[in-house]
Amino acid sequence: MSETEPPKGGCLCGALRYRIDGPIDHAVHCHCTMCRRWSGAVAVTWFTVPLTQFDVTTGQLAAYKSSDHGERRFCPTCATQVAFWSSKRPDEIDITIGTLDHPEKYPANRHVFAANRLPWLHLDEQLPGYETTSSGTAP
Ligand SMILES: [Zn+2]
Ligand SMILES: [Zn+2]
Repeated sequence: MSETEPPKGGCLCGALRYRIDGPIDHAVHCHCTMCRRWSGAVAVTWFTVPLTQFDVTTGQLAAYKSSDHGERRFCPTCATQVAFWSSKRPDEIDITIGTLDHPEKYPANRHVFAANRLPWLHLDEQLPGYETTSSGTAP
């Protein structure tokens, strides 16, 4: 997944823009009920990078504390859901792949919280599924 320019992304209204200062190695389809409710979508696809490689270049994110350790970050103007951060793994951040300018470059390679997957959702059936996260950390 090499490219000449760093991956960039942003929110629907354009007030928030970010850049990823490193490679995007993997992405996951998350089927947990919190991501589903938060997004209103049937699943949320995320990629994870070191926190130091997530560079907000325009605007700023608002945060909603969604659990005792987790925080969901979004554009305060248009409410685009951009990021998830957890105090259980404070040096990383998860970013919604749909906010990238070119998400087509980064296919998901696993399902997490597959036990909560909607039975009628057919998506990347060939990928491995994990009952919770592949590292066992709750979202
Ligand atoms: Zn926005
Ligand atoms: Zn989730």
